[in-house]
Amino acid sequence: MDNLMNCPQCGKLFVKYLREQCDMCFREEEQDYDKVYRFLRKSENRKATIVEVSESTEVAESKIIYFIHQGRIRVKGYPNFTYPCDGCQAPINDGRLCEECKARIKSELSLEDLIRRKQEEALPSYHTDDN
Ligand SMILES: [Zn+2]
Ligand SMILES: [Zn+2]
Repeated sequence: MDNLMNCPQCGKLFVKYLREQCDMCFREEEQDYDKVYRFLRKSENRKATIVEVSESTEVAESKIIYFIHQGRIRVKGYPNFTYPCDGCQAPINDGRLCEECKARIKSELSLEDLIRRKQEEALPSYHTDDN
């Protein structure tokens, strides 16, 4: 059996099939997701903060953020619901990064792009036609 691995969440050995976690953790995660999702869907909870959501659903804040990072939960439109930016910890309300980090990463990426392009131009082509 070459598909055995330890569940990253509980350490239990399981057969890696469709998921990177064991069935028990998967089910637990789905239940957590469901709780958060249902809670946020209620219009009276539109003004909830992440702390309030976490307390009401008994789902850890880190897990709620994990669902947001996965794109399964969106809190845009929830004015008080903020969580830390992945890059600088500033409070954000959508995606993984604040606008500043997005802009920074974008410019870094295009810089990398530029460098790579320059390098490729400088290199001889990779045709291996040595006589
Ligand atoms: Zn597990
Ligand atoms: Zn940031």
